[in-house]
Order: sequence, then C-alpha cells, then structure tokens
Amino acid sequence: TAQPFSHRVALVTGAAGNIGLACAERLAAMGADLALLDLNGEKLEQARASLSQHDVRITTHTCDVSDSEQVGSVVDGVAAEMGQIDFLFNNAGYQGAFAPVQDYPADDFARVMNINVCGMFNVLQHVSRHMIARRFGRIVNTASMAGVQGPPNMAAYGASKFAVIGLTQVAAKDLAPYNIRVNAISPAFMGPGMMWDRQVTLQAEAGSQYFSRDPKEVARQMIDSVPMRRYGSIEEIPGVVAFLLGDDSSYMTGVNLPISGG
Ligand code: NAD
Repeated sequence: TAQPFSHRVALVTGAAGNIGLACAERLAAMGADLALLDLNGEKLEQARASLSQHDVRITTHTCDVSDSEQVGSVVDGVAAEMGQIDFLFNNAGYQGAFAPVQDYPADDFARVMNINVCGMFNVLQHVSRHMIARRFGRIVNTASMAGVQGPPNMAAYGASKFAVIGLTQVAAKDLAPYNIRVNAISPAFMGPGMMWDRQVTLQAEAGSQYFSRDPKEVARQMIDSVPMRRYGSIEEIPGVVAFLLGDDSSYMTGVNLPISGG
C-alpha cells in the first residue's frame, strides 16, 4: 500500500518525549522509516515498543545532542544503515529553571542553551551534510511561543527558542540551494501532563507580578491568555509537522508556525 512517506527516512530527536513520540508515530503511520534519538535510552526503548505495530524500519540511538562528535557518529551511522535521511524532526529540548533574570542560575542557563541551541545546531549540521549530498531534505525545528513572546522567568528557555527561530531562518537560506527546506513549529501551552503541571507550579513559585502564587490560579491565568481558552493537546502537533515535512508545504521555508490557540 502506497503511503505518502513510504521510502522516506525520518530522524527524530527527543523521540522518547511527548511531542517527539507523537510525531514519530504519525510519520510511521504515513510510512516513513524512523531513526529515533534521545538521551534517555530506557524511555527510547519504550517508545520503539509502542511503535511496533507499524510496518516500518525503526532504529534507536541513545545520544546527547549537545555533543557534536557523538551526534556526528550517530547521524553518519543512521545514513549508512538506512541509506538516506530525508526528514529531520529536530525536537529535543529542555525547559530549564523558572526565576527572574537577576536570580536565574547561570549553570542552568548554559545547560539550556547547550541543549536547545547547540544541540539543535549539531543535529542540523550533521544531517544537512547527508541531505546536501542527495539534494533533498525537509527539516522541522521545535521552537516555542517562548521564542516569540519572551515569557517572564524563562530567561534561558526564551532566549534559546528565539535562537532556534533565528537558526531556522539562517539555515533555510543556507540550505535552499540544495532543495532542503527548514521550518519551525512553536507550540505554546500543551497539556495535560508533566510539562503543563511543571510550568504552572514553577511560575507560581517564581513569585512574579505576572502570575498568582497559587498554581490553580496560574493555570486559569494561562488559559485566559489564550484566545481559544484551552491548552493544546499533543495530538494537535503531528499534523503540522507532517505538513511541513511533506509536499503540501513545497514553497515554504524559514517560517515558524505557531501552535498556540491564537
Ligand atoms: P519532553 O520532556 O517530553 O521531551 C523532550 C525529550 O528530549 C526527552 O525525551 C528528553 O530525554 C530529550 N532530551 C533532553 N535533552 C536531550 C539531549 N541533550 N540529547 C538528546 N535528547 C534530549 O518534552 P516535549 O514537550 O515533548 O518537548 C519537545 C520539544 O517541544 C522541546 O524542544 C520543547 O522545548 C518543545 N516545546 C514543548 C512545549 C510543551 O508545552 N510541551 C511547548 C513548546 C515547546
């Protein structure tokens, strides 16, 4: 049965996480072979097991995206084993601490930038070299509305996601001559789950003029800031990623699509 992404190979980073796994599942359902990469090897194997009903090749790679050398050898290995890399969902990320900029822990700032910016760059760089050789590639970077609006108490995360959007625009230009498109998605409030609970709790604890000290009230404040008056579900992301990886977005590169309820 011909599926839209049969004979395509997709590399997904942060593949053991919520968004990475949901998108990997959609790509597999559309026929793509998968190379799944994550720092957490145990969760990665659970992710692979959860995808086993799909009749596609799946490889897993425990890898730290912030280590360029490690990324290079994993990516070269994937290209050799799978024959090609057509799609990159460059998605691994870390939210960091919540504190006003004057109190923000410097070591955590460096860690966030190292994972979210250097990590995304490392994967993009190594994968793009294989795509350039074949004159074909589609890349989606996971940014965030935090990289558009700069929420309070998120100095590192906000700065890192602004950088991801900048990297997307630069890479789109650098790689356009090689038939490689580079776009970004920017989810905002997604729930329910750990990420939602964590940001609600930590924004309350950060104690700023922007949010209540009561997490329940913070949740209401956040939802009230969304025109659609609800958080997004993880299942509202994979279709957007598939659109940006597929041919329906053939004249789009360097854009950042908000997934934010308005
Ligand atoms: P998640 O924590 O479920 O998944 C992130 C995954 O990245 C984890 O499996 C983690 O092990 C992996 N990872 C972290 N550091 C890594 C490293 N150094 N090398 C390799 N893998 C690493 O979170 P998620 O919600 O699925 O987040 C995915 C992406 O979406 C992130 O870039 C995040 O910033 C972004 N995002 C999430 C939300 C949200 O509300 N969930 C909103 C906007 C943007």
